[in-house]
Amino acid sequence: IQKRNTLLKKLKIKISGDNINTPILSNFCKMKNYLNQDLMNQLQKCGYQKPTPIQMVAIPIILQKKNLIAIAPTGSGKTCAFALPILQNLEIHKEGGPRCLVFAPAQELADQLFKEFNKFNKELKIKQIQEMNREKQAFKQAWNHIDILISSPLKFLKLHKVVDLSTIEYVIMDEADKYFELGLLAQVKQLLRILESLQITYMFFSATLPEPVEDIYRDLLIDPIKIMIGGRNH
Ligand code: ADP
Ligand code: MG
Repeated sequence: IQKRNTLLKKLKIKISGDNINTPILSNFCKMKNYLNQDLMNQLQKCGYQKPTPIQMVAIPIILQKKNLIAIAPTGSGKTCAFALPILQNLEIHKEGGPRCLVFAPAQELADQLFKEFNKFNKELKIKQIQEMNREKQAFKQAWNHIDILISSPLKFLKLHKVVDLSTIEYVIMDEADKYFELGLLAQVKQLLRILESLQITYMFFSATLPEPVEDIYRDLLIDPIKIMIGGRNH
């Protein structure tokens, strides 16, 4: 415990919530026990030397399917911190509908997420909502063949009524503070209400998160773990 606390302090990682047994994957050797060989090979190809602090702690938490609020500076590798454990958990393609929804507040951010996921993905069908046909039947058809859907809240709100949402297990909100900044919080709330009755693991990732916004998200989550790297404002 002492050693763990010293390491967390050194890396400026704060964890709160139910996290007693959360391991810290401080190097790729430790990560090997958690991620499959394909993902590890791909990481090696990327030339990364070691996991970033957010990756060290978020990956094992997401693998355990815990609700998470994660705050870490821009450029600190947040995308990999959620993409790798999601790819690991979903593992192989399944028909029937997406098991993970990933939300981004703007199109270029969604494009970046799509690219970053696909750097590591081999097995799963990942689609961005705007590349899907908006015609009802065609959309329903396409919906059944994907594992991960990347979307903005608005685009999803326009189409969700025609599909069955019961396959969804994970929802990731990236850049979680931006919805507030861009005046999209009402859309996010509407979205989360639609998903409320489902058993979903939520992950909110952000560089900053003003406390009032965090409180709104926290209301939706059962016993979330919170990770903060550095301070609140970067
Ligand atoms: P954030 O979402 O926190 O702003 P990104 O996920 O966009 O950051 O990552 C920023 C850059 O760092 C990307 O180019 C990504 O490929 C790279 N990166 C991710 N993880 C690592 C790592 N462990 N070591 C080195 N570079 C990394
Ligand atoms: Mg990011």
